[in-house]
Amino acid sequence: VSSSRDEFDLIACIRTRAGKRDDVLLGIGDDAAILRMRAGHDLVVSTDALNAGVHFPDDTAPFDIGWKSLAVNLSDLAAMGAEPAWCTLNLSLPNADAAWLDAFLDGFLALATQHRVALVGGDTTRGPLSSAVTAHGFVPHDEALRRSSAKVGDEIWVSGTLGDAAGALRQWRDGAAMDTHLRECLDRPTPRVALGLALRSIANACIDVSDGLLADLGHVLDESRVGAQLELDSLPSSTALTTAFDAATRRELQLGGGDDYELCFTAPSARANDVIAAETSAGVTATRIGRVESKPGLRLREADGGVREAKRSGYVHFDAKDGI
Ligand code: ADP
Ligand code: MG
Repeated sequence: VSSSRDEFDLIACIRTRAGKRDDVLLGIGDDAAILRMRAGHDLVVSTDALNAGVHFPDDTAPFDIGWKSLAVNLSDLAAMGAEPAWCTLNLSLPNADAAWLDAFLDGFLALATQHRVALVGGDTTRGPLSSAVTAHGFVPHDEALRRSSAKVGDEIWVSGTLGDAAGALRQWRDGAAMDTHLRECLDRPTPRVALGLALRSIANACIDVSDGLLADLGHVLDESRVGAQLELDSLPSSTALTTAFDAATRRELQLGGGDDYELCFTAPSARANDVIAAETSAGVTATRIGRVESKPGLRLREADGGVREAKRSGYVHFDAKDGI
């Protein structure tokens, strides 16, 4: 919508609705925002784009696109143990539809308000529907959680349940009716911000599960130069997922499906009680699913004791078989 009147109307609408914070010295309206850093803290920055037809089905409600485009970025900050503060929004829209933008902002700002995140700038252009957000947050100096510091002997934990969003997508691709709970997990993921903050002094390593557990835990293991064994029977499942799929499909969705936005983290077994206190204070469950080992690779242990090596799977963007 470059240089048309419409673009400025849309931006004016965004400007009136963006939140405020004391550390935003200048928000939307100038050539750039002016933000005040918090003393004693590092700035943590993450960016992620959602494209129609790649990251969400074309019939996704604008509210949900707004919600999710911020949620996936807050999830990245959560995985670093960062407290979210500011964000910017790069919107590409096929046309200047004020009602669509209003509904998008309803979802986006509902989540922003929940986490006291101010929208401080962005860009608005014409093009295929896409929403790219950059989120900024704070951690006290040198306290950010990383994926590279898992230690041999650590227990591996995951928050919430796995495979729900992938279950909804599977139903959608199969032309089946989507279960309401599963669809809600797909469209409105809950970033585990409070858990990430609580884990800062407890976890050795942390990542958010966006591309599937095997893929994302695999990143932790690679970066930490360790291996692991997972107890397949302990993978947390929602009742909805268990009801909707047979055991083998459910397992596949839990291990390889994406879009969970749960935190997968490792912590010394001596800190298990602190992890439990952290999940309780954050209002989310966490489940122990395995252990870090010195032997490289990722092994999956069945309930009957059989162990097999995991094949890496997960969402790969430039793989022809992936995509909506
Ligand atoms: P410029 O030509 O300087 O890039 P723009 O017209 O693109 O200015 O933007 C004007 C102001 O509106 C800037 O402060 C910019 O950050 C903000 N802005 C534009 N699009 C968005 C958006 N989608 N979300 C939030 N702020 C936006
Ligand atoms: Mg611009």
